[in-house]
Amino acid sequence: MSDCLFCKIVSGAIPAKPLYQDDTVLAFEDIQPQAPSHFLVIPREHLADQRGIDAGREALMGHLIRVASQVAADKGLSSFRTVINTGAQAGQTVFHLHVHVLGGRAMNWPPG
Ligand code: 5GP
Ligand code: ZN
Repeated sequence: MSDCLFCKIVSGAIPAKPLYQDDTVLAFEDIQPQAPSHFLVIPREHLADQRGIDAGREALMGHLIRVASQVAADKGLSSFRTVINTGAQAGQTVFHLHVHVLGGRAMNWPPG
C-alpha cells in the first residue's frame, strides 16, 4: 500500500535499523522504544492487522512468532513480551500488522 508507513520500510523508502529479513518478514528496531529492547516483526505483505491472517496465512503468523523468538535470543533476552495491538482502541497506530517484542526490564501485568 503506497501510503502505509511499514510498506515504505519494506520497500526501503523509509530507513529502519534492520535486525532480520527474509522473503516474507522483516524485523527492525522500534523508533520509539518502550523498553531497553523493543523491536517489531512485520510481514512484507500489507495486512492491516492480525485479522488479515486467514487460513492460508497461518504459517506466516507462525513465522512472525518464530522470528520474534530468534531475534530475542540473538539479543540475549531471557524474558520478553510479545504484543499485537489490533484496532485504535487497543493502541494500534500503524495499520500494517506488526508484532512488538519488548524486553530488558520487568513488565507489569495487567498491561495498560
Ligand atoms: P502500534 O501503536 O501500531 O501498535 O505500534 C506502532 C509502532 O511503530 C510504535 O511502537 C512506533 O514507535 C513504531 N513506529 C512508528 N513509526 C515508525 C518508524 O518510522 N520507524 C520505526 N522503526 N518504528 C516506527
Ligand atoms: Zn503496509
